[in-house]
Amino acid sequence: MSYYSGQITRLIEELSRLPGIGSKSAQRLAFHIINMPKDQVQGLASAIVDARENIQYCKQCYNLTDSELCPVCRNEKRNKKEIMVVETPRDLAAYEKTGKYEGVYHVLHGAISPMLGIGPNDIRLKELMLRLQGDVDEVIIATNSSLEGETTAMYISKLIKPTGIKVSRIASGVPVGGDLEYIDEVTLLRALEGRVEL
Ligand code: ZN
Repeated sequence: MSYYSGQITRLIEELSRLPGIGSKSAQRLAFHIINMPKDQVQGLASAIVDARENIQYCKQCYNLTDSELCPVCRNEKRNKKEIMVVETPRDLAAYEKTGKYEGVYHVLHGAISPMLGIGPNDIRLKELMLRLQGDVDEVIIATNSSLEGETTAMYISKLIKPTGIKVSRIASGVPVGGDLEYIDEVTLLRALEGRVEL
């Protein structure tokens, strides 16, 4: 790194903190940025800062949003009585891309993992239970089919059962250990349509 001047080294170091960016990619990106027109660099920098400053959790579903409610929760046409529980905003985006799901979501921001020391209180589960005090017909659990996702699904279904609200789990067309965001839309839809009641 010492071949470069301080400013470039700093840029490379900052970029290499990003997930999936090793030192080679960081160098490539840094040199690319240095050669970009100044206004484009300004646009990139301010998009990063603005997003970090303004993005917050949706008050209802904990999706990421730049206003109080996310676009899904704001949409009056969505069925608020059907809640799909997902692990991350990326999983939500994957289902939104299918354009076929008409309910709303609840983003847990993680999954229960005894191995990693992540318990029920470390994800947005209390918030989900609070929402269920309202008028809800069905909770569709769409956590990943990893060990953590399955553990979380079981835990949630046990919590919800006594409330009498219908709980279902998306079908396993989704490969074991597969992240929802990498699965194609047809498979996602099939998993949703083939969901089974727990
Ligand atoms: Zn929302």
